[in-house]
Amino acid sequence: MSSLRSLPSVDQLLQNPAVISWINEYGRPLTLDALRQALDKVREGYRTSKDIPSLEKLLEHAHDLLMLWVSPSLQPVINATGVILHTNLGRAPLSLSAFRAIQIISTEYSNLEYDLAAGKRGSRLAHAETLLTRLTHTEAALVVNNNAAAVLLILSALARRRSVIIARSQLVEIGGGFRIPDVMKQSGARLLEVGTTNRVHLSDYQTTIDEGSPALILHTHRSNFRITGFTSEPALSELAGIAMQAGIPLVDDLGSGALLDTGQYGLGHEPTVSESLDAGADLVCFSGDKLLGGPQAGIIIGKAELIARLKKHPLARAVRADKLCLAALSATLLHYLKDEATCEIPIWRMISMSIDVIQQRADHWADSLGFGTVIESESTVGGGSLPGETLPTYVLSLPVRSPNRTMELLRTNQPPVIARLDMDKVIFDPRTVMPEQENDLLAAIRSAFIK
Ligand SMILES: *Cc1c(COP(=O)(O)O)cnc(C)c1O
Repeated sequence: MSSLRSLPSVDQLLQNPAVISWINEYGRPLTLDALRQALDKVREGYRTSKDIPSLEKLLEHAHDLLMLWVSPSLQPVINATGVILHTNLGRAPLSLSAFRAIQIISTEYSNLEYDLAAGKRGSRLAHAETLLTRLTHTEAALVVNNNAAAVLLILSALARRRSVIIARSQLVEIGGGFRIPDVMKQSGARLLEVGTTNRVHLSDYQTTIDEGSPALILHTHRSNFRITGFTSEPALSELAGIAMQAGIPLVDDLGSGALLDTGQYGLGHEPTVSESLDAGADLVCFSGDKLLGGPQAGIIIGKAELIARLKKHPLARAVRADKLCLAALSATLLHYLKDEATCEIPIWRMISMSIDVIQQRADHWADSLGFGTVIESESTVGGGSLPGETLPTYVLSLPVRSPNRTMELLRTNQPPVIARLDMDKVIFDPRTVMPEQENDLLAAIRSAFIK
């Protein structure tokens, strides 16, 4: 039995060649912290076990600590779930052009708020705004931090201390605690609910307008659920009609903000931005990182006079978009303008991926591994769009003895792999796996299934 006296001092450890190399790589303060913590742990353990670990063990522990501290907590993962807009996995991956735009704008100076032609201060909003108005044929646009902020800003600027009409069937919770009634409370707007959970009529809106003199009508897309059966809601264009008569704006929170028609890929129809504008909405807001396929952002488009009021509101500064968002958003919007969205924007590539290509990829995985079967399955769009809608797909299916253990091995792989569990089978959907991730995926599966 050795005593605590045999334990090396921090100064002695600092002479160790391994430790010297750590100092070079991770810096002296962090290395010192790791050594001290490792020594403390040994002293603590000694009280119960009366045992002193070897120098190697001690250094190994210190090194583990260092690795833990310097490895980024936010890291890329392989999404094999087949959920295209996976909210937990960062929603939309960006296009290569959007990535390049972020790279150049973040590492160099830019004309973010400088008007190059006039040689004086400009507006950061000019950049993505011009593209947005051209693309959607609207008068004006405003980009904020995310769509939740867009809704909050609209209600704060246009309806504070006044009331807002919304159908009971649209009082949604999007997830992550975003509830329309709570946002309204935050904005200082008063909620005027109309209709019942399943049915609301145009006359309900009309009566409430006559009695309540509201500031605006809010229409919200039921992003993540469906109501079926005995249901009815007036068309958006009918709401626009009575809003116009009453002289109040109609605001449409579209949620996902599709610019392309999802129907052409065998999915249900997700309301598009142009449909909402055509129906007569005065303001339309949606997310940048859902079906648009860009960075996290909240996009507001519509009447210039209303957008001007939003821009002047103090909250606009608090929720403004940063330059990296504006760079990536502009690059993403350009794909739509150039009519190349389905081949350049990753989520649209995934949505439009042909079933033959998916089957070939799944077959190739099974061949390379030498185990697993390829079966028909379904992918989903996710991210608060197209609830209940699926895309036919082929997946690699692997029966396992302890599914939870296998899922854990995959998750703790480098890079982590997120798969889907279906009873006692682990499922891998090629649709959401980037082609360049395939080798890493196969290596992860091999090592998880050998263990
Ligand atoms: C997703 C969603 C939001 C929130 O958008 P974020 O960009 O995530 O803040 C708001 N409203 C609706 C209808 C949505 O679907």
